[in-house]
Amino acid sequence: MEMLDEITDLMQEMIRNKCINPPGNEMKSIRTVERFLSSYGIESEIFVSAPERGNLLAVMEGSGNHPSLMLGPAHVDVVPVENEKDWAVPPFDGVIKDCCIWGRGSLDMLYIVASQTVVFAKLHQEGFNPKGDLKLCIVADEEASGNYGANWLVKNHPEKVKVDYLITEAGGDPIGPNRLTYVYGEKGTAWTRLRFQGEEQHGSAPYGSNNAVVKMAKAIQRVSEYQPPRHTSLLKPFINAMGIGTFTKALMGNTRTLGFMFAQLARRSKKDAAFLNTMTQMTISPNVCKGGAKVNTVPGQAYVDVDIRTLPGQDEEYVFAQLRIALGRMVDEVTIESLPVDLGGGFNPGNISDMESPLVKVIESVVKDLRGQKTTLVPMVSPGATDSRFFRRAFGTNAYGFSFHDESLAIGELMSMFHGTNERVPLGTLELTSKGYMEIVRKFLG
Ligand SMILES: [Zn+2]
Repeated sequence: MEMLDEITDLMQEMIRNKCINPPGNEMKSIRTVERFLSSYGIESEIFVSAPERGNLLAVMEGSGNHPSLMLGPAHVDVVPVENEKDWAVPPFDGVIKDCCIWGRGSLDMLYIVASQTVVFAKLHQEGFNPKGDLKLCIVADEEASGNYGANWLVKNHPEKVKVDYLITEAGGDPIGPNRLTYVYGEKGTAWTRLRFQGEEQHGSAPYGSNNAVVKMAKAIQRVSEYQPPRHTSLLKPFINAMGIGTFTKALMGNTRTLGFMFAQLARRSKKDAAFLNTMTQMTISPNVCKGGAKVNTVPGQAYVDVDIRTLPGQDEEYVFAQLRIALGRMVDEVTIESLPVDLGGGFNPGNISDMESPLVKVIESVVKDLRGQKTTLVPMVSPGATDSRFFRRAFGTNAYGFSFHDESLAIGELMSMFHGTNERVPLGTLELTSKGYMEIVRKFLG
């Protein structure tokens, strides 16, 4: 069978498996992958982390002591669909239409699961003899905490999944003419709750009252207007690779002019400015607030939950110090605490891999072979998190988000489809991605 047909078959089955997280029930798709591999005579190991939840590992042992490479961790769980009626096709049917495969999870990230699985199988079939171990790792639970997926594997079976290099989701986006991104790092999360104490009294006589909601409103104003220090070390390689003019580059590369440049850019595209800004500073966004119980009572309690994203290297102390500066003279009226763990609290530091490792060089040469010599890889640190963080943290793995998007969908449309309506992947992307992964593995481990 042609590689492309095998990939679309696998994707269709996994889309129809509907591994919506929660609850996940990822064993359905794990078994799909297991069956496919065993049809090629490949044995895989399954690690069950909870009832109906599990992860799969297949290994081709290396013949030398070359660094190892993992395809994955590639997650089979998907997020729910809010309103099926908004979709042009049913989201769990795995429809192929207009040269795309449609469905929830198709882009995030079943096309990579399927491509990596098929590439692994084909390499096995042709008797590929890797210099270092080649591992295929398919996981559950990326869309929640990873506690039944990648995080669980790294904690419970470190000797099995330890790896020097890996390629997983994110990246490969056509960000400009002849420009494809790769993601070599992620920002951290420090989701924080700010608590305010007031004094309850009757709402009909508020003169001189101590109102927790009013305090909260003032604090929200302060933290949302505060600009944490900017840094250019992550932005510089990005704008260099984007090939923009020298003058703009100079202004963008200087922390004193950066704020001005973002303000200018925001007049043309708020989205672009917001995106570039993520690479330059810790961001603070107060997003959920609660306070007061009844309209005729001055509230005694209020809190606001703040989405804080840190740059690699910024620790929890830094976060608290910045918040104290932002709150200024209000600081004594606020209790700063981490969000409860079940709401995603607990400090998760930013993490980063070598931007110019041997694997990046291989990816670059394969990109040029497939997309033309003029194509440049653009190094990017993502504001969001993937399973890469567990591997970077546990083993110091050089982890990269990369695949090959064709240019049939504009970047804006592509980005809106993650967890969005009418999620789909062009067949051209499947072809490029599978060819690309195949060549990367051959060049890196062959
Ligand atoms: Zn994903």
